[in-house]
Amino acid sequence: MNQVTKTDFIHFINCPESLWLQKNKPNAYTKGPFSLFLEKLIKEGYEVEDYAKLLFPDGLNLPENSTPTYTNQQLNSNHTVFFQPSFLTPKGVFARVDILEKLPDNTYHLYEIKSATSVKKGKLEDACFQKYVLQECGYTVAKVSIIHLNKDYRKQGVIQTKELLTIIDITENTNDIYSAVANKINAATSYINRNAINENKCSCRYKTRTNHCDSFSYFNSDIPDYSIYEIARISAKKIQQLVAQQYLGILDIPLNFKLSTMQQVQVESVRKEKVLINKSSIKSTLNKLQYPLHFIDYETFPAAIPKLDHMGPHQHLVFQVSVHTMQKDGDLTHFEWLGTKIEQPEDMLKQMQNFTGLTGTFISWNAPFEMSRNKDLLEWVPKFKIYLNYMNAHMFDLMTIFKTDYVDFRFHGSTSIKKVLPVLCPQFSYSDLEVQDGTMALDIWGRMVSDPDFGGDRDTTRKNLLAYCKLDSLAMVEIYRVLIK
Ligand code: SF4
Repeated sequence: MNQVTKTDFIHFINCPESLWLQKNKPNAYTKGPFSLFLEKLIKEGYEVEDYAKLLFPDGLNLPENSTPTYTNQQLNSNHTVFFQPSFLTPKGVFARVDILEKLPDNTYHLYEIKSATSVKKGKLEDACFQKYVLQECGYTVAKVSIIHLNKDYRKQGVIQTKELLTIIDITENTNDIYSAVANKINAATSYINRNAINENKCSCRYKTRTNHCDSFSYFNSDIPDYSIYEIARISAKKIQQLVAQQYLGILDIPLNFKLSTMQQVQVESVRKEKVLINKSSIKSTLNKLQYPLHFIDYETFPAAIPKLDHMGPHQHLVFQVSVHTMQKDGDLTHFEWLGTKIEQPEDMLKQMQNFTGLTGTFISWNAPFEMSRNKDLLEWVPKFKIYLNYMNAHMFDLMTIFKTDYVDFRFHGSTSIKKVLPVLCPQFSYSDLEVQDGTMALDIWGRMVSDPDFGGDRDTTRKNLLAYCKLDSLAMVEIYRVLIK
């Protein structure tokens, strides 16, 4: 019989089918592209946990993987606070609690730790799950609290744990949802232990692409290439109407089916296998850009626990930049900078300003990201205020052209640079690079500069990181060249 843990329970709430597959057919369960990102979140969770433990200096750390029997013995000791005690109900529901405090009347105060900066009251089922398990094991949980990061905290010198963390009492909230959660736990237990489920369809068939997980194709093997889910910004209602009539591919959609103008352009592009370009609009947009053009890409390291003074939880540290500058005659020069330690990129801004000057237009892909980093830097490195403001006032988002004026069926409804580049410039590819995306870049850089056990070769790692960021800004140059042709 499959045991149910808190992680399983949350997985069940998000998607029963996906959980069943993971438990019953692990080889068919796809570990998604976000696994590195998730690993980072887990690591950060441990870091926040270490700070939360400081709030309870007399707490007893139970060994990792200690058993519920061991927990039971320790709860009868003289200690009052326990880290990581574990519990198992007779029905096989397992909980490892972050922090448990024994109150004078022998009831318990349960604390759940979250690395988020806020907690939605409607999303407390995981804390309630822990309470359920303890109660089913015969313990009375009188109080439940969440410890999470304080979004207004700004580091100044040594981290002040009491200011870094916020504790909120959610006892009443868990009482309100307790019986509903108990029912869901029972449902999860019986669901994952089913011998079989319908593996030919899953509920995301009726939802937009943003809801789909990596198992979508497994459960919906009949969905064709160029499917209705690829239509940009299509609503769930329209997906439902189309699926109900078995119109699963873009080519199946009846001509009179109502879609927005942009969506119709995309459908037409697939039908005719044609690239649809609004040349006059692109020309007028590009004519507004002023040379020199600075194609810029930042790589950043977001940390749950702020690493530098003036920074708050989850704020991004810029650790790398690549800028390709193009003059009117097409002449191209390149600037790159990669940090060697966790510090504000003051040196980067100095060198970059010397390289670009305060002239021309800055171009990035998904510009709100670069602009937000510049806004943060205004606060942290104010002596570059004029330069940072100049950049943001002269920033153009190259991606916008692919949202409206350049539609190619081979992008599969995406405007990601990683989809656009290989279609427009097949000679360039990310697939040969050691570092494949931003999440990988931040993970490797973070380990290289702060993990004493980093096993990689630093020179090679630097080269790989530089190659990745360089391609990001060069990709924009090459796409721009295609556009002006
Ligand atoms: S695609 Fe959606 S419904 Fe299907 S398994 Fe994934 S999350 Fe579940």
